[in-house]
Amino acid sequence: MKADLRQTVISNGINITLKCPHCGNIGTFETIYDDIYCKNDKGKPIVIGIKKCPNLNCGGHAFVIYDQGSRSILDSYPITKLDFNKDDIPTQIAETFEEAIICHANKCYIASAIMVRKTLEQLCKDKGAEGRNLKERIQALVESITMPKELKEGMDVLRVLGNNAAHVELTDFDEISKNELEISIDFTKEILKSVYQFDKLLIALKSLKKE
Ligand SMILES: [Zn+2]
Repeated sequence: MKADLRQTVISNGINITLKCPHCGNIGTFETIYDDIYCKNDKGKPIVIGIKKCPNLNCGGHAFVIYDQGSRSILDSYPITKLDFNKDDIPTQIAETFEEAIICHANKCYIASAIMVRKTLEQLCKDKGAEGRNLKERIQALVESITMPKELKEGMDVLRVLGNNAAHVELTDFDEISKNELEISIDFTKEILKSVYQFDKLLIALKSLKKE
């Protein structure tokens, strides 16, 4: 978003509730200095400010642009990414999925969908799940892991899984919506958790039983 700074009014800054792009906690960010009241390039009244994370262990900065009337946040920097716990996930797979999340945060939804698909392909390869296309490989994989039945049944609608046997049909992604992508990301997280993270928890639980 462009802020037009040809006409500005400087006024007291306000505290703003935000998910911290640094520590990931949601908090009421404290204002640093005054806020700048101006308009965006479409003439809408907006405010610009620099805020500080209230978490004492963080204190990270955020640059925000918010609506003058509703005070809803229109833009912020650094970008807030979706949460992703990388624990015990093979580096290559974690890096691919991280890229999907970065693309999503930057509103590059098709690029993100392609990286989600790549994550799932790498995951199937790592676990030796076979099939003629990604959907079949994922199906083979989820049969072998602990995962809610409802999730297994629901995955059919995910366009990111595609049907093409030979290669990624980029046209599959042409119409992908933000919502559809976010559901694909959540689904992928659930699979990653089931494949790489539940086992460790189960082993830890079993070891408690023996004591
Ligand atoms: Zn923070």
